[in-house]
Amino acid sequence: MTEAYRRRTTCRMCGSPRLDIVMRCEPTPCGDHYLPAARAGEVQPCYPMDVAICLDCALVQLPDVVNPELLYREYIYNTSISLGLSEHFDRYAARLADWTGAAPGSLVLDIGSNDGTLLRSFKARGFAVLGVDPARDQARRANAAGVPTENAFFTEALARELRTARGAAAIVTANNVFANVDDLPDLVAGIRAMLAPDGVFTFETGYVVDLVRHSVIDNFYHEHLSYFSVLPLERFFQAAGMELIDVEHVETKGGSLRGMVQLAGGPRRANREAIDRMAAAERDGGFDRPDTYRAFAARMDEVRRDLRQRLLEAKARGETIAGYGASVGVTTLLYYWGLDEVLSYLVDDNPARHGLLTPGHQLPVLPSTVLAERRPDWVVLLAWRYADPIMRRHEAYRQAGGRFLIPLPAVREP
Ligand SMILES: [Zn+2]
Repeated sequence: MTEAYRRRTTCRMCGSPRLDIVMRCEPTPCGDHYLPAARAGEVQPCYPMDVAICLDCALVQLPDVVNPELLYREYIYNTSISLGLSEHFDRYAARLADWTGAAPGSLVLDIGSNDGTLLRSFKARGFAVLGVDPARDQARRANAAGVPTENAFFTEALARELRTARGAAAIVTANNVFANVDDLPDLVAGIRAMLAPDGVFTFETGYVVDLVRHSVIDNFYHEHLSYFSVLPLERFFQAAGMELIDVEHVETKGGSLRGMVQLAGGPRRANREAIDRMAAAERDGGFDRPDTYRAFAARMDEVRRDLRQRLLEAKARGETIAGYGASVGVTTLLYYWGLDEVLSYLVDDNPARHGLLTPGHQLPVLPSTVLAERRPDWVVLLAWRYADPIMRRHEAYRQAGGRFLIPLPAVREP
């Protein structure tokens, strides 16, 4: 891919041309490309962000693909500084080692291994480990920490080289990367090439059912190309010569789906009870049908109208408004709601974001301590899923007359 962006006309999972657009988010720049102040004024192009469902396999997806070289070039997200995730990965490694019964010394491959956090847990349990990650800094950090890591995108061609060099893998993992890959058939061909005959592939990825039920529209952004559910996944693996053998619903990142897969005809017995239960719940909830997503889009339109009306009125009264949160998903919200018209600045608790400008709109991001000094009349909690801890931390701001607004799942002043 040489162009900055292209639009698919076929489903990235089953190849069907029957993609039905069910929701249109506003086009945004790369959502994570917060700019240093020295680059103020730089033009950041916007790319479309329509949401489609495949009428054949029911995969929810963004047909708009931003060139990954462009998207991940300046990737600043770092696993080990995300609170809670290290413990999560450590428990995950323990459970996987136990569940697969893979012998210590056998190889664990992690795709999208970031700075090697998950692999360090496997290494501590006596496994040989290998990471693959396209972000230069992350791969460098992982190698320095003793986790051998290829700085590359995982493809079938790379998998064949790695298989020759390192042998087959007992476990292949991909956490929160399965959604980020456009060429899913190639990814799975690579996994198949790496797996030992009795090996397992496990993945964790956002669950579209949770996104809709909990109104997590900030999970729509260009890195996330697919929004998974059990129904399309089962069919996809089957077509690729593999078998989905277990699924689990977990609470991380607003709701995720964890799946385990083996080569077709592999030695493990599928947990049909768990798979069939989740698939049936998806069918009953209409998550394989476009009208369910159109209804969701209509509900999100109402939130947008309500929020904009309140904030435009406040601004017309001369009140000042700040936003709380400066994540990749916040970019989606800022554009979808047109908040550049009303917000003076954002605040965030991550020091790495302080002093940066938001993608495209270039609103300044400041430390959250400025709320006590500047006392904006309103703070819109863009990081709305963390509303409770944020409000507790800034009780003094509220005591002094400041007001919070929580935008989702419906606009409310707490
Ligand atoms: Zn499809």
